[in-house]
Amino acid sequence: MEIVIIVLALVVVLGGTAWFVSQRRGGATTLEPPPTREVPAPPAEPPVLEGDADVAAPAPPVVTEPEVVEEPEVREAPPVKPSFRERLSKARATLTGYVGSVLSREKVDAETWDELEEALIRADVGVATTTDILDRLRETVKAEGITDSAVLVEALKAQLKADLAQGDRTLRFEPGAPNVWLFVGVNGVGKTTTIGKVGKRQVAEGRSVVMAAGDTFRAAAAEQLTTWAERVGADLVRGAEGGDPSSVIFDAVQRAAARGQDLVLADTAGRLHTKVNLMEELRKVRRVADREPGKVTEVLLVLDATTGQNGLVQAQQFTEAVDLTGVVLTKLDGSAKGGIALAIQSTLGIPIKLVGLGETADDLVEFDPDEFVDALFAQDL
Ligand code: GDP
Repeated sequence: MEIVIIVLALVVVLGGTAWFVSQRRGGATTLEPPPTREVPAPPAEPPVLEGDADVAAPAPPVVTEPEVVEEPEVREAPPVKPSFRERLSKARATLTGYVGSVLSREKVDAETWDELEEALIRADVGVATTTDILDRLRETVKAEGITDSAVLVEALKAQLKADLAQGDRTLRFEPGAPNVWLFVGVNGVGKTTTIGKVGKRQVAEGRSVVMAAGDTFRAAAAEQLTTWAERVGADLVRGAEGGDPSSVIFDAVQRAAARGQDLVLADTAGRLHTKVNLMEELRKVRRVADREPGKVTEVLLVLDATTGQNGLVQAQQFTEAVDLTGVVLTKLDGSAKGGIALAIQSTLGIPIKLVGLGETADDLVEFDPDEFVDALFAQDL
């Protein structure tokens, strides 16, 4: 009997020890689930690679160490609106030195006024407009007791912004009849290119557009416009070389009316190869385009900003002939000094509606007086 009790006691002691050891070693007898390794979730959409279009279903996720997945490269950036600040670098360079010099002197003195005058004239503002701008600035300085140079420059900027903000800069469109927007200006200023850019924007806004190749005297113009029309999804009406520009625009209006299309963008000649006076011809074009069923809602003068004060003389001639509704100032990204914008606004009182900041389809932007003036006066080149 004693032997049996000793054997039983030994079994109990050895069994308990074995159980205790197995627990310490993490043995099989456990209720907790084994620790799991974190598996990265499969990406919602596998990154698309070139030629991936017809790849079969993605492989099941493999349990491996998490891989460092690099950000997929962005292949096509969405069109970025060009900024005045970036594109007006040449124009800005004209003013920077003068404005910097004015700011370097704390007080406003006679030299300050001389420097501002020279800066504006060099920037293509023109003598008459510069005198007008500085006369009004002197009144502000007197009325507000300005003595500090930085405050003076800010007052000048505010005045220029207010001047340029006058007038309605929206492009007029009246529902109903086909609207006609006429583009006038001398050869080479960028009329055809501007029509292409405007066409792209109008089509993107949902309007149906017909382009009329009314510059029948420049052989390449109709070709250029055909390319733009195809590119932006507009219709095109063109006539015989050297033919009557008015009849091309008349046909375009008839076609737009018959098809219920919204807008005719009409190119016009910048120079004639006949004895007919250009301004007479443009008057006729405007009359014909404005006849039922068409309605001329915009007559836009396209001006090359790099031609400086010459542009002003052109603008005056065109205004007298065709009653302009707005100006498109092209090539402000080039060697233009920018001041012509101020001269146009103050001499003609016609709003600048659009500005060309480059040659591609997205390089036409609405004219923004605040951004424009800030870009011209920016000191950080
Ligand atoms: P058009 O004779 O008035 O029809 O002038 P075009 O449309 O043929 O343009 C003349 C040249 O100016 C072309 O080489 C255009 O690419 C270029 N151009 C037009 N607008 C701009 C612009 O805003 N910036 C720059 N840099 N070039 C432009």
